[in-house]
Amino acid sequence: MNLDSRTMMVMISALSLLFSGLLTLAGLHAGNTRGVRHWAMGSLCIGLGLGFSYTQLALPGSTWVLILGATFMAAGIGLQFNGIQTFKTGYCNKYLPWLLAGLVFAQNLWFVVLQPHVHDRVIANSLVFALGNAACARALLIRIEQPLRTAYWFTGASFAVVTAMFLARATMVFLAPPNTYSLYSQNLINPVTLFIGSMAQMCLAFGLVLMLNYRLASDLQKLASSDGLTGALNRRSLEQEAARLSARCTRTGDTLAVMMIDVDHFKSINDRYGHPAGDEVLRRLATVAQKTIRSDDYFARYGGEEFCILLPSTIEKDAWTLADRLRQTYAATVMEFDGEILLSTISIGVSDSIHAGLEFNALIAAADQAMYRAKQEGRNRVVMYSA
Ligand code: GH3
Ligand code: MG
Ligand code: MG
Repeated sequence: MNLDSRTMMVMISALSLLFSGLLTLAGLHAGNTRGVRHWAMGSLCIGLGLGFSYTQLALPGSTWVLILGATFMAAGIGLQFNGIQTFKTGYCNKYLPWLLAGLVFAQNLWFVVLQPHVHDRVIANSLVFALGNAACARALLIRIEQPLRTAYWFTGASFAVVTAMFLARATMVFLAPPNTYSLYSQNLINPVTLFIGSMAQMCLAFGLVLMLNYRLASDLQKLASSDGLTGALNRRSLEQEAARLSARCTRTGDTLAVMMIDVDHFKSINDRYGHPAGDEVLRRLATVAQKTIRSDDYFARYGGEEFCILLPSTIEKDAWTLADRLRQTYAATVMEFDGEILLSTISIGVSDSIHAGLEFNALIAAADQAMYRAKQEGRNRVVMYSA
């Protein structure tokens, strides 16, 4: 292959520096999402590392520049790994990039100054770099969030390609006849690995920005579909889910049940303990409800102190059983405000598509009617629309 290694090194180095700026800009609007700054720093270190190595290409003999180049590269890979960890979990081991840089500095000191051996140096460095990139790939390909899956896979695959490239580089140098490889010699190893490396470096930067983009879009989606106080679905997404479920039930002939929940004497809780206590009561109810319902049920705040639960493939009688369990669990929940014990109850109305039809407004009106009957009958109870 007739690709010039020097030009390619300058290109990757310049690209990495450019990506560092790009990631810094992307991080400015990342909100609570962290890790982007690590990636920007990592890219900067990799760019500088390659730049140093290139300088050594241009000026043979600058051994310290060579050692520094490899050290910066290692720190850059460590920072990228920390960025991924921080992006995923919010935490990372901040000593890791230093540790990796220290290891690579020591092995380069050994193979460049103390026991000079180009082949062994390249093999040792390539193996450490491969290990670092493999750790990044692993972190991106296992235990990942569903909405970000595609972005994680893309970036993880790019890290896997870089890993394979470093392993191939180590193998090719290992198999090369003694003392034939150097950064300046004409060989296949440099053009091939630098070409793959530069492509993968571009994909990596793109993948990291893609991950950030997916995360922000998914955060926005969550924000737009949930209620700020309780975390339940808001009215808009409840109506969307209901329309989707109704259409599905019409197609399949399946049933759909609805629960309308209303806190009893909520106004007097507000009046007696204050609005913050009332808010806490609503949050508690949401927690109890979310623990009680099944994974394919939809829990939403309908408005004020009224909540609604959509129960697919359920009939009124089974909805009643679930509602009564929720009523009892909530009634047994003890809350404390200003040193006073607060016990609260709820009234629930249930209806299903067999008795009220599949139209959402009709289902809600039926459940509402049943709920008002529960209020009239003395509160803290569950009433079926058909009863
Ligand atoms: P009932 O047993 O008949 O349901 O009586 P109630 O007092 O619960 O019913 P009412 O509809 O009169 O009172 C509802 C109250 O809920 C009035 C309103 O100020 C309060 N409220 C609505 N939204 C919120 C909220 O987000 N936080 C708090 N703290 N109060 C709210
Ligand atoms: Mg009410
Ligand atoms: Mg009420």
